[in-house]
Amino acid sequence: MTTPDALLRSLGVDSPDDIDLETIAWSCGLAVRYTSLNGCDARIVGMGDRGVLTVNSKQGLARQRFSIAHELGHWQLHRGRLTLCRAEEIEGSASEARGLEVDADRFAAALLMPRFLFEPAAAALDRKPPWTMVESLSSLFQTSLLATALRVIALDLWPGWLVCHTRTGRPFAFKAPTAEDVGRPMIAVDYRSGAFDILHAGASVVRSRQLPGDAWFSGAQRRIATEHSRAYSPDRALTFVRLD
Ligand SMILES: [Zn+2]
Repeated sequence: MTTPDALLRSLGVDSPDDIDLETIAWSCGLAVRYTSLNGCDARIVGMGDRGVLTVNSKQGLARQRFSIAHELGHWQLHRGRLTLCRAEEIEGSASEARGLEVDADRFAAALLMPRFLFEPAAAALDRKPPWTMVESLSSLFQTSLLATALRVIALDLWPGWLVCHTRTGRPFAFKAPTAEDVGRPMIAVDYRSGAFDILHAGASVVRSRQLPGDAWFSGAQRRIATEHSRAYSPDRALTFVRLD
């Protein structure tokens, strides 16, 4: 199995602009084709070591790139086990159980935002607020805000949590490796949080504030939390939060 890093290095990739997915796919034996698909984002029809990767042209660019990278992950990791799937970024706790899909998502994240390019790019943005950093990185790497924010957390570039809330629950919460462990964030969004304003009052700009720690973590009374919330889709708020 070729790792995403090995694949990129073998092609001489040394900047985000060089991550040309058609070339990478070709080097793995796949031709990429764009067409409108119904009911799935991408699929591979393969025979032996060659195949055609079809991606849904109705999706936006970042989504198409993630879908191609996700399918490449299946091709490299699970060949012969899957030929058709719905490529998705992590969209909820239900996806945590889907092992093959999670593997393909991890492969995609590492291919599109390789550590050896992502970390220096993030370091150059050091001390910027997290959503400013994520917006810059997302345009540099041509990835969605969600995929980019998840990568920032996974690579420990912002030592806190990334939490998704809806009006009625918390579809997912991910912790950076070195973030302080005080239990998982609250399921219900707290009325003092900027995420609440986004979900219940339609606030559309990034909301950054400091508030009592127990708005986010039940065991964090007498602590202060810093949060940065933004709307993600019409009914979701994403928040970077950590205790000071
Ligand atoms: Zn898949």
